[in-house]
Amino acid sequence: MNEKISQAGAILGLKEGVVQALQQCEREVVVSIPLRRGDDVEVLTGYRVQHSSARGPRKGGIRFHQDVDLDEVRALASLMTWKTALIDVPFGGAKGGVTVDASTLTDLEREEIIRRWTRSIHHVLGHQRDIPAPDMGTDARTMAWLMDEFHRLEGFQPACVTGKPVELFGAPGREEATGRGVAMIAAATLEENREKVKGARVVIQGFGNVGRFTALVCQQLGFKVIAIADVSGGIIHPDGINVEEIMKYKTIRDVPSYDKTNSAEVLEQRCEVLIPAALGGVITSSNVDKIHAQYIIEGANQPTTADADWVLRDRGSIIVPDILANSGGVMGSYFEWTQNIQQYSWPIEKFRSELDSRMAKAFADVYRESKLHLVDLRTAAFVLAVKRVAGAFALRGILV
Ligand code: NAD
Repeated sequence: MNEKISQAGAILGLKEGVVQALQQCEREVVVSIPLRRGDDVEVLTGYRVQHSSARGPRKGGIRFHQDVDLDEVRALASLMTWKTALIDVPFGGAKGGVTVDASTLTDLEREEIIRRWTRSIHHVLGHQRDIPAPDMGTDARTMAWLMDEFHRLEGFQPACVTGKPVELFGAPGREEATGRGVAMIAAATLEENREKVKGARVVIQGFGNVGRFTALVCQQLGFKVIAIADVSGGIIHPDGINVEEIMKYKTIRDVPSYDKTNSAEVLEQRCEVLIPAALGGVITSSNVDKIHAQYIIEGANQPTTADADWVLRDRGSIIVPDILANSGGVMGSYFEWTQNIQQYSWPIEKFRSELDSRMAKAFADVYRESKLHLVDLRTAAFVLAVKRVAGAFALRGILV
C-alpha cells in the first residue's frame, strides 16, 4: 500500500518528506494479555496501532486471529486512514488485534481477552481519541464487553466503540451497511457508464455478511443476480435467483432449488457485474482470462492480484477498488457514532438514505479524480485520500 501512497504523492507533487510522514504511524501500543486456559496460563499479545488523527479521532476494527502481528496491524491501520478520508468522514485511522485463533476460544475466554485488552489500552481509546469496531474473530457481543469495560474505567461513553448490538446503543442498518454500500456502488458504476441497472446480470462470490446484503440490495435495485457461491458451493440461474428466498438458508449448499456449480465457476460466468465478496486473491493471473465481467466491484478486501488487475484494465474492464466499494461499513460506523454522541436514534430509513447518498458522493468524487488525473479508479481513490489527509496536515500547520 505504501507504493500507492508514494504514487499518489508523486501525482499530487508532494515533497518526499511529506509522503514519508503520511506513511508513519502516530502511536503503537503492544500489550501482553495473560489468559487462564484450563489449569495453566497462556500469554497472548495484543496491539493497537494509531496511524493518523489528522482528520479526526482514529477509527478501526479489532481482530482476533492467529496471524495478527505488528506489521499487519500497521498496514491495516494505515488503510483505515485512507478509507475514512476517501469517504470523507471525520475520522483518522487505527487498527487493533490479538494474536489468537478465535475458533479455539470459549465465550468466557473471548470476554476475558477483550476486557484485558481494553484495560491495558483504554488510556488511548475513547470517542474523541480512537474508536474500535468488530473485525475478523470479533463481533457485536465482543464490542458490548469492550464498551462495558471502558465504562467501568472511564464512565458512560457509548460512542467509544461501534458495531455494538442494536439493543445496546448499536444502530439499526449497521449490519447491512457494507453490502448495501457495495450494491449502491455497483449501480452507480453502471449509471456512470450509461448502462442500465435493470436486468443487468450480477454474479457474487461470498454469502456472508457482505455477500448476503449485496445480493439482496442488488435485487432490490433491479439487477438480476444470476449466480452466487460460498465456501459450501454455488448456485446458478440465468433468469435470476430469488435472493429473499435463499437468505433463509445458512449456506448455499442448503438451498434446495437452482442448478449447482462451484465457487471457481461462479467467477467465470458471463455477466455485466462481478462482485467478489468472500476472500482476498481470488482473481489472479491463473483465472483472469476466464473472467468475462466488464465491471468488477471489490466487495472483499484485495480480491484482485496486481497482475490480474493490470490484465483486466488493459482489456478495458472497470474495477471499483475495495477501499471505495466496501466502505459502507465504516460509513455505517460513523452513523452509529454520531447517533451515540447525540443520544438520538435514527429510524433505519434515515440510516439507509444517508448511506446511499454518502456512498454516491464518494463514488462521484473518485470518478472525478480519475478523470482529472487520467488514472484508474484504484489510483484515483488513493490520490483523493492522500490529498485530503495531506491537506488536513498542512492546514493544521504540521506539514509545509
Ligand atoms: P463472512 O465471514 O461473513 O463471510 C465470508 C463468506 O465467504 C462466507 O459466505 C463464506 O462461505 C465465503 N467463502 C469463504 N471461502 C470461500 C471460497 N473459497 N469460495 C467462495 N466463498 C467462500 O465475511 P464478510 O464479513 O462477509 O467479509 C467478506 C470479505 O469482505 C472479507 O474480505 C472482509 O475482509 C471484507 N470486508 C468485510 C466488511 C464487513 O463489514 N463485514 C467490511 C469491509 C470488508
